[in-house]
Amino acid sequence: MVRCQDYHYPRVREAVERALEPLGGMGAFVKEGQGVLIKPNLLQASPPEKGVTTHPAVVRAVVELVAEAGGRPMIGDSPAIGPLRRVLSRTGMEAVARQTGAELVDFSDVVEVKPPEGPFRRIEVARAALKAEVVISLPKLKTHSMMVMTLGVKNLFGSIPGFRKASWHLKAGTDRVAFAALLLEVCLAVRPALTVMDGVVAMEGEGPNTGDLRPLGAILASRDPLALDRAVMEALGLPPEGLPVLGVARQWGLWPEVQLEGEPLRVEGFRLPKGADLTWGLPSFVKGPLRRWFLPKPRVDQRICRACGLCVEACPPKAMEMRGERVEIDYGRCIRCYCCQEVCPEGAIELR
Ligand code: SF4
Ligand code: SF4
Repeated sequence: MVRCQDYHYPRVREAVERALEPLGGMGAFVKEGQGVLIKPNLLQASPPEKGVTTHPAVVRAVVELVAEAGGRPMIGDSPAIGPLRRVLSRTGMEAVARQTGAELVDFSDVVEVKPPEGPFRRIEVARAALKAEVVISLPKLKTHSMMVMTLGVKNLFGSIPGFRKASWHLKAGTDRVAFAALLLEVCLAVRPALTVMDGVVAMEGEGPNTGDLRPLGAILASRDPLALDRAVMEALGLPPEGLPVLGVARQWGLWPEVQLEGEPLRVEGFRLPKGADLTWGLPSFVKGPLRRWFLPKPRVDQRICRACGLCVEACPPKAMEMRGERVEIDYGRCIRCYCCQEVCPEGAIELR
């Protein structure tokens, strides 16, 4: 963990280098001639100052260090929302590619893999993520309505192409443990060699896209995304097992040990989303259709809604429909995945 108070590029570059020092520098991860996939969090076409996506200064620093180590940097992700070109342009990734010569890759071509652990057995992951010789993951430190936080492990869910994400939500249904297991399976399949997290300006409250900015002034790096996630939870004063992916990791015997180097971060009063429950909310005997009644419901604030229909399109079980200018939700079908909240550009969907 190192301190970095803003996104002024020379400071970010220096902070990323300092964060990598105890790990042996970029040369410990990248060898001459290797193709290196750099995977930021590019959830949607948001400008960097909104804090929804990994800041381009962090991406640029990693790209430059990869190139200096002799690697061939490629930047790629599969946004959950919106066409890739627009996302790359709005998030500043096109500019980074222009400045550095990094290649922009798309994730539409998939390959099927059998992860070493977990219940799903077969998942489809972007070929670019699987075939790269080295994967470097660049998550943004943010809250997440469904999974409490989106950190190192969750960032790899972007390796599943956007158009397939809804079907995975459907398979996991209301079961947070099943969805966390899927996230861990994807992470184990992609096996990032290095994770560098953008915690310079984090997001708290109603993340991953309508929360509030929370400057934390930190860049964090680790070989192990699980260890990084545990270290972040502890730095935020939250119980690590409260992060569903870490809870599942413990069940699978993958609980990470953490050896912290650098300048420890101690954050007070970090706000989680209303839907987040660090005990995962439900006793294990609450199963199937009953489970949904214990989880917060998405509600549309009709005063803010502009009837764009994006939530209706994104809803995996088709529980939403437009009736004239109003969005109606069938709560009997709703699996409480909160994809609707994630895609709403107006922040019109609340959880209650
Ligand atoms: S209404 Fe929202 S929370 Fe419910 S299933 Fe649809 S997208 Fe998910
Ligand atoms: S995405 Fe948001 S603004 Fe668009 S219809 Fe749904 S609630 Fe309304």
